[in-house]
Amino acid sequence: MTNSLIVPCAHCASLNRIPADRLRDAPHCGRCKSSALLNAPFDLQQSQFANQIKGNLPLLVDVWASWCGPCRTFAPTFTQAAAELHGRCRLAKLDSEANTQLSAQLGIRSIPSLILFKNGQEVARQSGALPLPQLLAWLKQYSI
Ligand SMILES: [Zn+2]
Repeated sequence: MTNSLIVPCAHCASLNRIPADRLRDAPHCGRCKSSALLNAPFDLQQSQFANQIKGNLPLLVDVWASWCGPCRTFAPTFTQAAAELHGRCRLAKLDSEANTQLSAQLGIRSIPSLILFKNGQEVARQSGALPLPQLLAWLKQYSI
C-alpha cells in the first residue's frame, strides 16, 4: 500500500489525500481541480487558516505588508525556498493588512515574521528576514 499524506489545497483549503510519491507532481485538488500543492508560495486567507495548518506537511507562513521594504526584499528568497522545499513543506504568504484579524490572533509585532506550523500547532517563529541558507538551516532544526 502506498503511503499517503493529508494535504490542504493551496487554493480552496480542502483536505486532499495524496500518495507520498506524487507530492511533487502538482497533484490536483479533488474539489476545485487546481494544483493542491505548489512549488511556489500561495496566499493565505484568514478564512482558510484553520484548515491550512492541518495535514501532514508543515506550513511556513511569511507575514508581510506591501509598504514594508524588507518584506519586498525577502520575497524572492521565500519563493526560492518554496521551490527548494517542494513536497516537504508548504509556504504561504500572509498579507497582514488584508488579514488584520488573523495577524492580531497570531500576535504579529513586526514584519516580516516567519511562523512554522506542524500538525496544526505553531512550532517556531522568526522575526525578520533570513538569507536562503540560514532560512533552510533554521527549518532543518525542525526536521524540514
Ligand atoms: Zn482545491
